[in-house]
Amino acid sequence: MRVGIVGYGTAGQAAAILLGRQGHEVTVFEKSPVLGPVGAGFLLQPTGLAVLDRLALAEKALALGQRIDELHGTTPSGRAVMAMRYADRRPGCFGLGMTRGALFELLRSADAGATTVRTGIRIVAHDEATSSLHDEEGHVHGPFDLVVVADGAHSVLRPHCKGQVRRESLYPWGAVWCLLRVDDWHAHEHLLQRYAGTRTMIGMLPVGTRPGHEGRWVTFFFSLPGDRVECFDDAALDDMKREAVALWPELAPHLASLERADQLHKARYRDVVLRRPHHGHLVVIGDAAHAMSPQLGQGVNMALLDAEALADALAAHDDIDKALGAYRRGRHAHVRTYQFMSRWLTPLFQSDHAWLGPGRDALFGPMGRLPGVRGTMLGILSGEARLRRKH
Ligand SMILES: Cc1cc2nc3c(=O)[nH]c(=O)nc-3n(C[C@H](O)[C@H](O)[C@H](O)COP(=O)(O)OP(=O)(O)OC[C@H]3O[C@@H](n4cnc5c(N)ncnc54)[C@H](O)[C@@H]3O)c2cc1C
Repeated sequence: MRVGIVGYGTAGQAAAILLGRQGHEVTVFEKSPVLGPVGAGFLLQPTGLAVLDRLALAEKALALGQRIDELHGTTPSGRAVMAMRYADRRPGCFGLGMTRGALFELLRSADAGATTVRTGIRIVAHDEATSSLHDEEGHVHGPFDLVVVADGAHSVLRPHCKGQVRRESLYPWGAVWCLLRVDDWHAHEHLLQRYAGTRTMIGMLPVGTRPGHEGRWVTFFFSLPGDRVECFDDAALDDMKREAVALWPELAPHLASLERADQLHKARYRDVVLRRPHHGHLVVIGDAAHAMSPQLGQGVNMALLDAEALADALAAHDDIDKALGAYRRGRHAHVRTYQFMSRWLTPLFQSDHAWLGPGRDALFGPMGRLPGVRGTMLGILSGEARLRRKH
């Protein structure tokens, strides 16, 4: 088949590798003029690691990233709100902190030369009648037997999945985040978070190595209301550093290197629900299909799972319509579970609903120790809740 993929983020990269390996003729369109990662770092879950394993990339990922064994979230006074150990899910279970750059280079190396990646082309429309893609300069690309839309949370191609967009809203909250070099950080195997009410959430996620740089790195994350993300400037950076250090004094030496607002990335989240992720011979994967707040740290993993499930469905069915139906059924329960959980949990950690904070702080710790609840929480953390995966 001739396959056109829109977007060369994690979903587009993984789909390009897997479909290319199946012998399809794959062309990727990426709007950025230069290929590279966007953002700081992320937590790869056992689910995402399993997909990398299938791509024979897990060993390299482990060498580049940082094994994460535990998640600890506390209030500024030290009260435990979240305390989870991957090993309580099952022995040998863990997450992997990685820089975006490390994952990008890893997937790029697995794809090198096999796929045509056309950079600096912003696709703006899909013509269903001719099965082609149109870019913003009026050029037409295609025709394609299958179009894979992987253009991220703020997708412009999503509406071309006609009649399928059930929800598409901007979250009122977002975050600023960046990589910090912290060779002397005391908790390299832990994702640490600090919550002050529902209006402030700070995270330190060790992410291992960074291509082209020395030392060990963490992703620093600070949640902010959306309007404050948009106008985050040097003065806002000073305020943020003051607040972060007041709530978490150990951060002071590590935040000292932040002097300009443009050293941090800005993120706004969307909540996207599609009735079906396909229309005709166009299929939507990754954040474009199910953007959510990153509260549960699943988006990269879901992008990898989508790409794998799509490739498996296409391998199992000669008929594209049947393959897309099988793809939808295979991913449905998992995607819906995490959409629901993320919509339910995000306001407890990032919202103006201050009254939720004390209840969360009082109940989450004890609830997490109840045997039934603990198992469910660990299933959600590991990305494995209601997951159907063939391999
Ligand atoms: C602060 C923050 C923390 C996060 N932490 C985690 C975490 O710990 N774990 C986790 O699993 N996930 C995390 N995520 C979520 C994760 O980043 C996303 O879910 C994931 O990157 C989605 O991948 P994607 O390929 O679908 O989209 P993207 O990575 O957004 O890629 C989309 C690509 O499409 C390109 N593009 C866009 N529009 C067009 C167009 N019109 N034409 C051509 N190209 C286009 C873009 O340039 C980009 O390269 C986090 C997100 C944020 C914001």
